[in-house]
Amino acid sequence: MSRHLNALNRAFEKAFAHTASRETLSDLLSCLGEELLCDRISIFEINADGTCDNTYEWCHQGTISEKDLLQNLPVTWLGHWKEKLANDEIIVHADLDEIREEEPEIWKVFHDQQVHAVIVSKLAFHGQSRGFFVLENPGKVILDEADEMLPGMRYILSSLVYSDYLIHKLEKIGYSDNLTGTGNRLSLHEHLETLDRTGSIGMIYCDVFGWNVEDGRPEHMEQEQMLIHASEILENVFDESEVFRVSQDEFLVVVSPVEEALFLESEDIIRRLFLEKDLLVAIGAVWDPVCKDSFDAMIRRTHLVMYDEKRALLEEHKERTIRSEAWDEENKANVALYHAEQFFQKAEAWSSQIFDENIMTVVIDVNYFKLFNDIFGRKAGNVFLESIGEALRAKAHDYHGIAGYLGGDNFILMLPVRERETEELRPYVEQMITDLKYTDGFTPVLGVYLSDDREENVSVQYDRALTALSEIKGSYTEHYHFYSEENYRNVRENKLLLLNARKGIRNGEFIFYVQPQVHERTGRIVGSEALVRWNLREQVLTPDRFIEILEKSGHIFALDCCVWEQVCAWQKSLEKRGLPVLPCSVNVSRVDFYFTDVGDYFINLVKKYDLNPALLGIEITESAFTDNTESIGRAVKKLHEAGFRISMDDFGSGSSSLSMLHTMNLDVLKTDVKFMSQKNSDSKAISIVESVISMAHMIGMLVVTEGVETQQQRDELIALGDNYAQGFFFYKPMPVEEYEALLQDKDKLGEPPKKGDSVMTSHIRFRDMIHEGMLSETLLDNIIGPAAIYKECGGEFSIVQVNTLYTRLTGITQDDTEAMKNFVHRFHSHSEERVTEIFHGAESHPLEGSAGEVDFEKPDGTTVHMKARVFLLYSCDDHSIYMTTFQ
Ligand code: C2E
Ligand code: MG
Ligand code: MG
Repeated sequence: MSRHLNALNRAFEKAFAHTASRETLSDLLSCLGEELLCDRISIFEINADGTCDNTYEWCHQGTISEKDLLQNLPVTWLGHWKEKLANDEIIVHADLDEIREEEPEIWKVFHDQQVHAVIVSKLAFHGQSRGFFVLENPGKVILDEADEMLPGMRYILSSLVYSDYLIHKLEKIGYSDNLTGTGNRLSLHEHLETLDRTGSIGMIYCDVFGWNVEDGRPEHMEQEQMLIHASEILENVFDESEVFRVSQDEFLVVVSPVEEALFLESEDIIRRLFLEKDLLVAIGAVWDPVCKDSFDAMIRRTHLVMYDEKRALLEEHKERTIRSEAWDEENKANVALYHAEQFFQKAEAWSSQIFDENIMTVVIDVNYFKLFNDIFGRKAGNVFLESIGEALRAKAHDYHGIAGYLGGDNFILMLPVRERETEELRPYVEQMITDLKYTDGFTPVLGVYLSDDREENVSVQYDRALTALSEIKGSYTEHYHFYSEENYRNVRENKLLLLNARKGIRNGEFIFYVQPQVHERTGRIVGSEALVRWNLREQVLTPDRFIEILEKSGHIFALDCCVWEQVCAWQKSLEKRGLPVLPCSVNVSRVDFYFTDVGDYFINLVKKYDLNPALLGIEITESAFTDNTESIGRAVKKLHEAGFRISMDDFGSGSSSLSMLHTMNLDVLKTDVKFMSQKNSDSKAISIVESVISMAHMIGMLVVTEGVETQQQRDELIALGDNYAQGFFFYKPMPVEEYEALLQDKDKLGEPPKKGDSVMTSHIRFRDMIHEGMLSETLLDNIIGPAAIYKECGGEFSIVQVNTLYTRLTGITQDDTEAMKNFVHRFHSHSEERVTEIFHGAESHPLEGSAGEVDFEKPDGTTVHMKARVFLLYSCDDHSIYMTTFQ
């Protein structure tokens, strides 16, 4: 073996003694550096905006680190190397002086650092370029044999960099906003990364900032409710994946590609809808034929447009808000109270000027402020907030600190202090509370954090003060709380659990139990679900203890692979031992889709174990579908075609609609008794279960109801038809040995359901559903999206019933009898015929319905373009009943 290969092997062996990727990459760089006799190795990653950062660096002893200086560099810095790297060339210069003429800039950079020889190569993974790495002053042999040695090394570096990047991404996986369910800032960044910069793009910034004032009396609406309404409006007009809640009360919509006219029209529609809902929203819309500057710059532009409108609106409503004052104050010479966005920028600069003092960060919130507004009125509320703002501004002024207003009833103050211990801050803070004048019962509460680390950035300090605040929010007795490590105990505990879990995965501590699935009526076993369990020191831990943490860290994939393998091996072993083999399903986490092509993975897995795919069910939770509809859609299609049975798990927990189930080609709908009873009163619960089951049958899906615990629940479900169940009433999850014992008893086993089993009852049941009261509005809204029931009588169509989402989409309400009768004429002339065609098509497609696109004129004269799917529910001699869902 040549010398360099030995060196490489040694480096790899040493570096991979550990497993965690982040350490491995640094370890590997240091081992490579030593073995290849370099002075420095640097990894550069290219950002979406075309700049590059030095993200990893190893330096030989005595070599000075340059990493901090090498951030945010334009790639033009690379000169012709850029094309060479793009062409996959490995750049080797044993003497950099050779390129002094040709690449003076590069030469200078290296020359200044006393680098005389380099090897540079691209980093790419799965064909996707991630950046490049540079070996500085490597040993002579290495320079001679670079071409031979680099490919393997590059592969390993690339995959580690890529997996680090993924892990980093996954750490931030909270991609949707908890309150409104729209995307959040993280998903916005994700979304921007996927956009084609050469396509047309439109952005709309919405600031939901208030109540519509009528007769001088503010109409009160809970802020949260307002935000939810606003998000619903946006998500109805735009695709869900295009709407993001970017701050407390701001939403951003990003659409690309989009025609200008269509975009402007959508802007118009949302304006109208906000007006209808009595929401005061400032809107800024910007459209560009191509994104001419960076996305960030475009967002800022859109924000400015919005802000102009907001100022005008505020003026119009003569509402003096503290926020606008914060802006005006900014221009005064004195210490200002900054607006949130500005605050964080200014605070970063401010804190960098503090050297030998600590920083005390205080975040302030007013307990029950909404109540205050209710009782004393909004004006008094503003006065109250202003007085707090004033007190903080004075403090910032007196103590050379900085203060900000973060919106709502939230403020922040940062002051330099000499104190070293949190406890010493008590007098300060107590004085401050007295200074913040307040009305009895409405106390400002303070979260306080003391930082002695000048490297700690402002957002971390803010977060910690916020953590402290969250400990006492809502308390009448405590007015302030200091951040302590204890607040983070939870966080640390989770870290520990994660460490143990990673070890546990390697040591085979994770096993699976199976829970039988039965035929509801006969109680006979037709299959099972594999549920992971952790054998941790005598205990058997259930997934609620660890799944979420593993999902957040991305380690769930390793765990899932290990469960899937075990299940396949077990199914095969049953076959070999001559036991009956029934389908067993495994759970797939949404995170798994980030790690692998789930479709290919399962196809290879059954090949490896020589297992019939029909014996391996795949359960994907509903929430996963809204996260990454496309990649899941592809995987599901592939798996479906390969013969796997795919379930949507926990249907009813999220916001999927039945039409989505249908387009996704899913086979089984798993729903839980608990989802039904949570959202609705018990009496309604069962009728909703019934409707779900009927509709699922109608589109050809099997239904498994989970969580069946009582005879009564079972009876009610039996009354709904031929279904399957999984629940403690029948069997709890059990070790495989116990299940195998059950399999030996032929009387306990039933026929596993076959595809298409469920369809028969659908028509009759569906007809039942249109009886009054059976099809609740909640159900129509939550489960099928915008929908309406139509009646055709002698060629004339009329609307029988519509739901709220339908009203929002078309402007037609249940009470508008005229519109309900003449709705066909509201379709544009070319669409009118098409509508009749679609309706008649429904007859020949009883299962999947007939679909088409139409333009519809709303009562206010505007037009909506809709995708419609029509199902025939019932037909007799003189009339037919149809249901239509829209997108
Ligand atoms: P799931 O897939 O919806 O599984 C059904 C859960 O309901 C199981 O909880 C089961 O024990 C429980 N259950 C079944 N019947 C009843 C009943 O009658 N009453 C009540 N109260 N509960 C019942 P378990 O085993 O704790 O699993 C919880 C969740 O963890 C699963 O929900 C699944 O989402 C996830 N999970 C389980 N195993 C795995 C796995 O291997 N990989 C991944 N990614 N997730 C898994
Ligand atoms: Mg499941
Ligand atoms: Mg479930």
